[in-house]
Amino acid sequence: MRLFKIRGGVHPDDRKSLAADRAIEDLPLPPLLHIPLQQHIGATAKPSVRRGERVAKGQLLADSQGAISAPVHAPTSGRVVGVGSYPAHHASGLNVSTISLQPDGEDRWAEDMEGVGDPFGLTPEEVARRVSQAGIVGMGGATFPSAVKLNLRQRYELHSLVINAAECEPYLTCDDRLMCEHAEQVIDGVRIMAHALGVSRILIGIEGNKPEAIAAMRAAASSAGPATRSPGAEPATIDVVRLPTRYPMGSEKHLVQTLTGKETPARGLTADLGVVVHNPATAFAVHEALRFGRPLVSRVMTVSGQAIERPANLRVPLGTPLQRLIDHCGGFREPPSRLISGGPMMGQPMPSTRVPTVKGSNGLLALSETETNRAEPRPCIRCASCVDACPCGLLPLEMAAHARAGDLEGVVSLGLMDCIGCGSCAYVCPAHIPLAQVFNYAKGEMAARGRAKQKQAETKRLAEQRTERMEAIKKAKREQMAKRKREAAAKKAADAAKAAKATPAATPTVTQGQAAPAQEAAPADESRQMPAKAAIQPEQSDAGEQPAKQPGEQAA
Ligand code: SF4
Ligand code: SF4
Repeated sequence: MRLFKIRGGVHPDDRKSLAADRAIEDLPLPPLLHIPLQQHIGATAKPSVRRGERVAKGQLLADSQGAISAPVHAPTSGRVVGVGSYPAHHASGLNVSTISLQPDGEDRWAEDMEGVGDPFGLTPEEVARRVSQAGIVGMGGATFPSAVKLNLRQRYELHSLVINAAECEPYLTCDDRLMCEHAEQVIDGVRIMAHALGVSRILIGIEGNKPEAIAAMRAAASSAGPATRSPGAEPATIDVVRLPTRYPMGSEKHLVQTLTGKETPARGLTADLGVVVHNPATAFAVHEALRFGRPLVSRVMTVSGQAIERPANLRVPLGTPLQRLIDHCGGFREPPSRLISGGPMMGQPMPSTRVPTVKGSNGLLALSETETNRAEPRPCIRCASCVDACPCGLLPLEMAAHARAGDLEGVVSLGLMDCIGCGSCAYVCPAHIPLAQVFNYAKGEMAARGRAKQKQAETKRLAEQRTERMEAIKKAKREQMAKRKREAAAKKAADAAKAAKATPAATPTVTQGQAAPAQEAAPADESRQMPAKAAIQPEQSDAGEQPAKQPGEQAA
C-alpha cells in the first residue's frame, strides 16, 4: 500500500527493548482503589453509590453527565469506603472527586453483565449506546468518549476507520503486547466499530518496530474476514499497514496523512476527511463490552525506565495507586530523576506515587539521571532545527520568543493552537530550550483567559437576567395593585348601589302617634338628605374608568 510523506518528525531512541518482550501480567488487587470521577474529556460523572455500600465488579459507581462524558464502574467487588476527593493523576496533584473502594478479594462480576451473540445484528446506534454505557474512552491518552466518535456518521460522510497502533512514544509497549497477545479480540472490536461507523475501509497502522504485532494482527484480520457493514452494503476491507518508525507517527492527523495523503484542515477533525481514528486498546475494550457486557475497569500499562528494577507490561485495575505498580516491578533500582505518566515526549510528570491509574494511563516511566535531559537552557542560536523538526510546519523559535515576551496573542497568531505538543522541537534544540513546555504553558494561559472571559460573559448574562426578572416582578406587582384598587372601587360602588336601592324599601311606615325604632330612623333621615341615584354616581364612574378617588376629592 502506498504511504505518503509527512513533514518534520524526529527519530528518538525508542528504548522499547526494555519491556517489548515482557508478556502482560495481571497486577494483583491493591488493598484500596481510588477511582476518579473524571477520567475522560467532558463533564465529571455523578456518584451513584454511597459510603458503606457493597458493589460488584463492573457495577456503576458514577454515571455520565451530558453528551460529552463517561460513566465510571467498579474495578472489582468490594465496599465503598469514601466518596470525596483524592490527589489527581495530573502534574498539579490537585484533589479531584474520587470514590475509594476496598476490594473484598472475591473479584466478583455483577450478575447483570450480558454480552451480545451477534453485535453485527445491532443497529449502529445500539452499538454506540453500549460503548457509552461501558464507559469506554480513547485509550491512547486522549480519553475522548468513544461513543461520541462512533456516532459521527450522523454528521459526517465517513468512509474509513483508522486504528492508531503506531505507539511511537519511546519506552511504551502496551499496545504492542496487546496486539501480540489479543490480536483476535482487537480485530473483533475493530470490526464492531467499523460496523457502527458504516465505513468501507479499515486501516490499521503499526510502526515497523513491532514486527510480531504486525504479523499477529495480519493473521487475525485474515482469519476474521472482511468486516460486515449495514445490511446490503459491501463488507469493509481490512489492511494492516507497516508504518515508518518516526516520531510523532501516532499523531492522529499525521497518521491519517501518512495513510491517505490527505491533510486535516487546521482546527478541523479527521472526520472532515471522512476518517475516524481509534486506538487498539479502545478496540479491545469495545470487544469486551459488546461480547461480554463488561465495562472498562482495567487497562494494560507499560512500566519502564532504567530506574525501575524490572520493566513490565501490566493489566492494571483502574484506580490502583502508582506505588503498587512500582512495587510489583521490584521497586526502584535507583532514585528516579523523573516519574512520568505516558511517554517521555508527551507524558506528564507525576507529583507522587499515591496518585491512581486512570483510563488514559498507558505507561509509567521511572527515568534515571542518564535518561533525562537536565542541561540548563541557553540562548537560542537560531539554527532552525526546531523548524525542520516541527511536523505541523510551525516556527517554534519565533513562538517561544513571543511567549517569553508575554505576547500570547502573538504566539496564537503564529499557530499555537495547531501545535500538537509533540516535543520534537525541544528534542532537537541544541540550546536545550524547553520549547514544548513553553507552548503548553501558553496554551494553559490561553485556556485560563478563555475560561475567565466565559465566566465574565456568564456573570453579565446572569445579572441581565436578574434585572429582567426584577422588572417583571415590579410590573406584576403594579398591575396587581391597580387591579385590587379597581376591584375595591367596584365593590364599594356596588355596595353603595345596593344600599341606595334598599333604602326606600327599608323605610318603615310610621303610624301616626307611633314612635319609629331608633336604628331604623337613620337610613330614613339619610335618604332624605342624599337621593340614592346622586349618591352612587361618582362610585360607578370610578369603577369603570377612573382611578380610585381620595375621600377629600369626593367631598369636594
Ligand atoms: S532549535 Fe533551539 S536554538 Fe535552534 S532555532 Fe530552535 S530554539 Fe533556537
Ligand atoms: S511541540 Fe508544537 S511546535 Fe514543537 S514540534 Fe511539536 S507541534 Fe511543532
